[in-house]
Amino acid sequence: MAQEPTQVPRLDFGEWHVPFPERGFYEFLVSDALTATRPEAPSPEESGVWLGRAESGVSVVIPVRLDVRRAGLRPISIAVLHQGDELHLAGHSVQFHEVQLTELTGSSRHIGGRCPQCRTRLVEGASVVQCPLCRALYCADCWDFLIGRRCYSRGCNYSPSMFAEIRVSK
Ligand SMILES: [Zn+2]
Ligand SMILES: [Zn+2]
Repeated sequence: MAQEPTQVPRLDFGEWHVPFPERGFYEFLVSDALTATRPEAPSPEESGVWLGRAESGVSVVIPVRLDVRRAGLRPISIAVLHQGDELHLAGHSVQFHEVQLTELTGSSRHIGGRCPQCRTRLVEGASVVQCPLCRALYCADCWDFLIGRRCYSRGCNYSPSMFAEIRVSK
């Protein structure tokens, strides 16, 4: 199963990662099979965690009969995740990635599109960051500029202020 290493939002288990579903969808990650989610709800014997994306695009986890900790705390029923959050679930240390610096490849459909901030055309090899809510692509510098502001796309409320840490995946 080939996975895009740059897929966000995702939970990073180190050896593998599990992408979140599309906006408005929830999928279950069974603690016995942590490599991929499934749409079916858990049986009464199963434990795990729902990975969900609200319509707004925000990513959440909902533990089911499983001890999940975020920043050392156990969420009562649901935890909203932010870029760089560390989770402990089913004996694993997991990191949440919502934003990622990537390089545009020649086959990207975004080539020729314009950065919403500086209006520059995006070219092959450009370092870009994609807004996790509206999927708009920004130059890396322009994304940094947005910290403390909001995404420029119409109707998008994403503010990179709390997500200052961007990791480059190898
Ligand atoms: Zn730009
Ligand atoms: Zn946006």
